[in-house]
Amino acid sequence: MSDRDSLVENGFGWHSNPLAETVGPVWQWRAIAVDSIIMPQLAGSAAMFKTAVNAGVSGVRRAMFPPLCLGCRRMTARPGTMCARCWAKLAFVERPWCAVTGLPFDHDHGEGFVSAGAIADPPPYDRARAALVYAGLARRLAQDLKYNDRTDLAPWMAGWMARAGAEFLGEVDLIVPVPLHRWRFLGRRFNQSAELARHLAPRFDVPCRPDVVVRTRRTRQQVGLGIRARQDNVRGAFHVPDAMRPRVKGKRVLLVDDVLTTGATVSALARTLRRAGAAGIDVLTFARVVPGFGDDEAERDFDGGSRRPI
Ligand SMILES: [Zn+2]
Repeated sequence: MSDRDSLVENGFGWHSNPLAETVGPVWQWRAIAVDSIIMPQLAGSAAMFKTAVNAGVSGVRRAMFPPLCLGCRRMTARPGTMCARCWAKLAFVERPWCAVTGLPFDHDHGEGFVSAGAIADPPPYDRARAALVYAGLARRLAQDLKYNDRTDLAPWMAGWMARAGAEFLGEVDLIVPVPLHRWRFLGRRFNQSAELARHLAPRFDVPCRPDVVVRTRRTRQQVGLGIRARQDNVRGAFHVPDAMRPRVKGKRVLLVDDVLTTGATVSALARTLRRAGAAGIDVLTFARVVPGFGDDEAERDFDGGSRRPI
């Protein structure tokens, strides 16, 4: 292959080519001209064009999709943020809390303190944490994700969850969302827990495995059921397929759900995963019912009477 052929073959590799030394004076001149005069100008023009296009695109995008508050949909400065008024309506679950259930205490008993309830009746999971108290705006965000197809909320909700579950970082091997029964999945088209889990997985740097456990029974909606009825409703509802057992055996699983009410669902799931050989099970939810810290609507979701099921 001649140098000239290589030039043609190299085509647009002109900047970095060794032409100046390997081909004749005409090519050399052209190469120098291309390198020193034309390319910088083209590159400069291209960069200016690109910047202008980007500015134009972001301007158009901003005009068409202005950043809106996740809560009230009023304009905000940046996407994925909340206005001050909505932010003030969120009640984050803060320490001190029970080291097992994650329920907040009135006063600090010291790090690692476990509530009397968790000692008397230990849950089948190791630790549960939640980002927000299930009330007011947090309740509405959870419902918007679940019933109003607001999957755009999931990344931001997952961000708050990652903060609440920071102690799980480096301690879990895989993330498993609470599965929906396939008929309910078809009806809703997406699983809100899987949406949250999908955005959490990169933050914990572990795989999200929605396929390791299936919901074999189509259970009643938990809304309006008391604690005992909820437990009965989800008993035996989950199954780890034989092919998936090696993925669970000896692994530390982080279960992800949108809302934790009595914990009946995650408890049933935790028992199923333990039987399949899971070494540890933690639970992370976007919101949780905190007795005495809810509001009337949240209480109705829990006790019954709401037309909007949880
Ligand atoms: Zn707002």
